[in-house]
Amino acid sequence: MKNSILSIVVPCYNEQEVLPQTNERLRALLDGMMRDNLVAEGSYILYVDDGSADQTWELIAGYAAGDTHVRGLKLVGNVGHQNALMAGLDTARADADVTVSIDADLQDDINVIPEMVKKFDAGNDVVYGVRRDRKADSFFKRYTAQGFYKFMARMGVKSVYNHADCRLMSRRAVDTLCMYEERNLFLRGLVPLMGYKSDSVYYDRLERKAGESKYPMSKMLSFAIDGITSFSVRPLRLIFFLGVLFLLISFGILVYVIMALCQGRGVQGWASLMLSIWFVGGCLLVCLSVIAAYIGRIYTESKHRPRYHIEQYLK
Ligand code: UDP
Ligand code: MG
Repeated sequence: MKNSILSIVVPCYNEQEVLPQTNERLRALLDGMMRDNLVAEGSYILYVDDGSADQTWELIAGYAAGDTHVRGLKLVGNVGHQNALMAGLDTARADADVTVSIDADLQDDINVIPEMVKKFDAGNDVVYGVRRDRKADSFFKRYTAQGFYKFMARMGVKSVYNHADCRLMSRRAVDTLCMYEERNLFLRGLVPLMGYKSDSVYYDRLERKAGESKYPMSKMLSFAIDGITSFSVRPLRLIFFLGVLFLLISFGILVYVIMALCQGRGVQGWASLMLSIWFVGGCLLVCLSVIAAYIGRIYTESKHRPRYHIEQYLK
């Protein structure tokens, strides 16, 4: 399937510093690809403004007005990276044969896009962009991120190591993705789950070109919890084993206490008693919090609320 319409979907949240550069580079890349007949003339870049508070939308609207190859989608309010991306993909599938999603900050090397399209032409429905290394990330980010991928694997979540949200998807892959109705979106886990024929391209992760990361520690943490609780019930099972372990320990203590009593040694154990009350109480609370995380998820899913609302679509 040669010469398809490509839509490059770019979620943007307060990206006014980097957007001019991003647009210039993506436009040049798209021009080149159209010139080389790699993609069809009707291909376009779709910026999704995720409720930015700065001049992001004004910039996007400006680009879209003077250029048939740029479109802008403005969401009502901030719904988060994953939902914004979903909004873009859902909109793009109306007329694009293939989509590539990429962050606005140019941390993922845009020069892999032609390579991705070639792999799509070769018959892949999904092409993952994989970071070869993370030298450009801070020490902290690198280790937390890698620890997270490893933990995910332990918990039984199928995901592509060091792949973020830079990926190509064919229209039918996006159509299938849109059939997954969950609200706690974790696309890195969902896409491999769909099981389409896939391939990967590799690139070095670059520095953010301008502006700051929109993923503070708190957002990263809730993203990680989303990823695990949306795909794995293993933490729930771990609680069970923890409970059994504790029962065994307390059984051992019981045996010890009975023996001590038989030998006429008085019980002085106020300290140990207090200790164990706190210890067990703490464990219970931790376990409860894990269950609560799942119940919270059930609660949000059961409402079936829409993922996003569109305020304006500039074609
Ligand atoms: N983003 C978004 N909504 C948000 C947070 C982030 O659309 O609520 C976008 C952001 O504009 C960027 C991408 O998601 O294009 C990735 O964010 P960022 O680069 O800040 O994350 P990091 O690379 O630091 O993990
Ligand atoms: Mg980034």
